[in-house]
Amino acid sequence: MHIQSVNPVNGKIIKSYKEDTEAKLSRKIEQTHKAWLGWRESSFSERTALMNRLAAQLTLAREHLAGLMAVEMGKPLKDGLAEIDKCASVCTYYAKNASNFLSDQLVKTEATKSYVSFQPLGVVLAVMPWNFPFWQVFRFLAPALMAGNCGLLKHASNVPGCAVAIEQLIKDAGFPAHVFQTLMIGSTAVAAVIEHPMVKAVTLTGSTEAGKKVAAQAGRMLKKTVLELGGSDPYLVLEDADLELAASTCASSRLINNGQSCIAAKRFIVDKKIEREFTGLFIEKIKQRKTGDPFETGTDLGPMARADLRDELHQQVLKNIEMGAKCILGGRIPTIKGKHAYYEPTVLTGIKKGMPAYSEELFGPVASILTARNTAHAVSLANDTSFGLGAAVFTRNEQLGEDIAQTQLQAGSCFVNSLVKSDPRLPFGGINQSGYGRELGMFGIHEFVNIKTVYIQ
Ligand code: NDP
Repeated sequence: MHIQSVNPVNGKIIKSYKEDTEAKLSRKIEQTHKAWLGWRESSFSERTALMNRLAAQLTLAREHLAGLMAVEMGKPLKDGLAEIDKCASVCTYYAKNASNFLSDQLVKTEATKSYVSFQPLGVVLAVMPWNFPFWQVFRFLAPALMAGNCGLLKHASNVPGCAVAIEQLIKDAGFPAHVFQTLMIGSTAVAAVIEHPMVKAVTLTGSTEAGKKVAAQAGRMLKKTVLELGGSDPYLVLEDADLELAASTCASSRLINNGQSCIAAKRFIVDKKIEREFTGLFIEKIKQRKTGDPFETGTDLGPMARADLRDELHQQVLKNIEMGAKCILGGRIPTIKGKHAYYEPTVLTGIKKGMPAYSEELFGPVASILTARNTAHAVSLANDTSFGLGAAVFTRNEQLGEDIAQTQLQAGSCFVNSLVKSDPRLPFGGINQSGYGRELGMFGIHEFVNIKTVYIQ
């Protein structure tokens, strides 16, 4: 069996990778477990030096790595370069802060001494998606290794070249052999890895469906999971919003990574008093984005990552239109020769309860506009979802914006007058069908550690 990279610009196979046999898989798990027995004894200063070298390796190889993403999943080069720089920043962030985040915390009790100590768990399996093929992995990898854990990566089947490159970066940075390895496997082989006694925990970033399956497998083995799943982030545009700012921020957020981001804005909930003006500005901003070859400078939007995902998205769009939504921009597969995965940036209005865009995630360049009667109605529409990853509100009334963000919107990250973004310094994750657990910041490094109580009478 083989795992293949396919160029979404033209459907051509770039490279085939032989899948790991069962024997090879077991060997890799054992090697990484053995590596952990040494790695857990390493000092913070050793880990810090290696993590900083990993950041330097990323910077050295940034053009090559951005090229890999462009060819395997269609990301424009400039976005790929920014992604690699962000990976380097998460490495330096945890290199600098991990020892502080994991230092013993003294707690006064009747004991002579009692404290909380953070100990590594062992080998953690990371099941990762294709949309940010480096960032999604590095935001797990950097805190995991700094905490003294080791990692096994099962990357998405359409980005095997990126997966191999990550393992190589770790080697080039000089980490001990096997502390982080790539498993070349499809999703059906994941259950056996989870069941392996040397694998202690699992993190998954991807669809809610995949998250449920992996969490069920891990649950049967009583292994801890962190799940970072899909979302249908609402962006509320209130009647007093700065519409120029709202329209340009909403367009940027919807089109991040060609709309293939868990925290891209997906539902635009706009007060009816300003809907017409907002929609006009929003469409203007979307039209400014240039679709093209990911390798060409000046390209803002490449193809989607896979033709099958583009076809699924198109079906969702058609279903909304059938149910009464209006398509005011795009809605078509462009007529380009070859088996490409391009899709026209699309805007749907008149989205109502019952339509796919109301309740499902649209994972591509499709914006859905919902009309709100007033602010309270906007909040209730925003929260009428099974997801809960991110949300944003646009208003000139900062106090109201903060109140809505802090107490009214049901999501893991709520932003005011800004797009939702991940930042190494801030915790990131969702609630409800968007998953559980947190990545990044101090909370992220505490997910895969034994929070141990030490008590000395
Ligand atoms: P998936 O969730 O199917 O894939 C993500 C990762 O999970 C991949 O490594 C995949 O492996 C693996 N996986 C999938 N099913 C299982 C399973 N049953 N057991 C173990 N591992 C599994 O995403 P898709 O690539 O199919 O994208 C479809 C949808 O996922 C999107 O429309 C979007 O909703 C969501 N998504 C969300 C992301 C996020 O950042 N939250 C990122 C990417 C997708 P393999 O590739 O081998 O199938």
